[in-house]
Amino acid sequence: MLNMNTAKWDSIHILFLLVIVMLLTVLAWITAKLCKLKQKNTQLTLYSKQTSLPNKNFLLQIIEKNPNRYPVENMTLLYIDVDHFKSINELKGFDFSDLLLSGISERLVALTKPKGQVFHIGQDEFLVLFTNTTHRGIGEIMATNILAGFKDSFEIAENTIYLNLSIGIVEHGSSNMDIPQMISAGEAAMYRAKQTGKGRYVVFNQSLFQAIKNETLIQNHLRQAIEQDEFEVYYQPQLDLAFDRIDGFEALLRWTNKELGSIPPNQFIKVAETTHLIVPLGNWVLRKACAFLKKLETMGYGPLNMSINVSVVQLMQADFVSTVQETLEFLELAPEHLELEITESMLMETLHLVLPKLEQLKEYGVRIALDDFGTGYSSLSYLSQMPISTLKLDKSFTDKIGTNQEGLIESILYLCKRLDLSTVAEGVEKNYQLSYLKKQECQKMQGFLFSKPLPEQGIIDLLKSAPT
Ligand code: C2E
Ligand code: MG
Ligand code: MG
Repeated sequence: MLNMNTAKWDSIHILFLLVIVMLLTVLAWITAKLCKLKQKNTQLTLYSKQTSLPNKNFLLQIIEKNPNRYPVENMTLLYIDVDHFKSINELKGFDFSDLLLSGISERLVALTKPKGQVFHIGQDEFLVLFTNTTHRGIGEIMATNILAGFKDSFEIAENTIYLNLSIGIVEHGSSNMDIPQMISAGEAAMYRAKQTGKGRYVVFNQSLFQAIKNETLIQNHLRQAIEQDEFEVYYQPQLDLAFDRIDGFEALLRWTNKELGSIPPNQFIKVAETTHLIVPLGNWVLRKACAFLKKLETMGYGPLNMSINVSVVQLMQADFVSTVQETLEFLELAPEHLELEITESMLMETLHLVLPKLEQLKEYGVRIALDDFGTGYSSLSYLSQMPISTLKLDKSFTDKIGTNQEGLIESILYLCKRLDLSTVAEGVEKNYQLSYLKKQECQKMQGFLFSKPLPEQGIIDLLKSAPT
């Protein structure tokens, strides 16, 4: 009997123990799940979804809470943005861009280890942080290394992609900035790198800060300037050197603001590009200049040509080609009388993106000019592969006439002749430059020697006195 009772108690104990073990297992499972969830949450808030790199939250929360591990003194920060990433995204889609972003992050980590810590802080924006950098100038060394490391292509889904980066560098040493201020300064320096040609780095300093303030002022006024009719188009004649007659004009924007006075295009075009205001502004120039050409044609002057400067930002608009076609068709102008000028440096960095549109335009009959040739990096052998009809030699080339560097101009003019490209020399100011260009059979010139850019009436007066 006693034995039976003991056995019963034993089985109750075992059952009780089993229940406890089961409860503990369930509890452990729930705790593990909760931990995983918390981890996932932390992963989401502190790490980038696409690249798994720590994000801006990580940078601000963790670093600011651990000043001893991340002392702001002797800190160098690199603010990195991928040039034209938005266009790649629009062309290739999100899945492709995500793969590309992982490739970029891996390369950045590899190029900056072991001292740099990489953060993914925005869609195509990265930060690299170097702590305890007693060596001033480390930012520039690292940026040079990164830019060189990005010369190699990315192979994504059977596509070969070449990327450029714009980098802003901030060294803490000389200022009292905290981390958020350093990030803003890095962003400002990065924007300056973009504005001054992309694919390069700029080190933040106080004069940059002042320049950025001025640009913000321009930006604020620029928004209303279109509505308030503050723009005008001037025209600079281009002279045909074989016949000594006006062949056409280059349309050049002029802006006068009540408060800021007259602002040169070199100051406002870049701002218009970064804000995308260049799109409505450029369309306005296109309509205005084409309408003026039509007016001259109707007045009996002609045939004349019109060259219009076009920003790559405009070219990247899906409807750019149709806008050009519609403008010409509406005015009943022959496409071959319109030339679109694209600066060499801008074209080189976006060639793979805008090439189909340039080919379409050329096919349609519009001429394409490579503007400011000599300021970018295109190799001469590349010229034959581009859908261009004209090469505009930059003023810096014209200024070489009369020096011992003339040989280069001669070779370029010779090559253009071989490639059947028209040639225009820019910024001709001296008679000896003109004689030299004629002797070398350069086809056209424009410059203050013949005429400065003039308003419509000035051009009409000029044509009256110098018939074409
Ligand atoms: P660009 O297209 O290379 O235009 C030639 C610039 O050289 C013009 O400056 C012109 O006034 C100037 N120039 C012409 N002949 C001489 C000369 O003999 N000596 C000197 N020193 N300069 C001369 P501008 O009008 O200040 O324009 C500067 C740049 O702004 C243009 O360079 C062009 O890249 C841009 N730009 C002007 N208008 C437009 C526009 O409607 N759209 C776009 N996207 N860019 C424009
Ligand atoms: Mg031009
Ligand atoms: Mg030019």
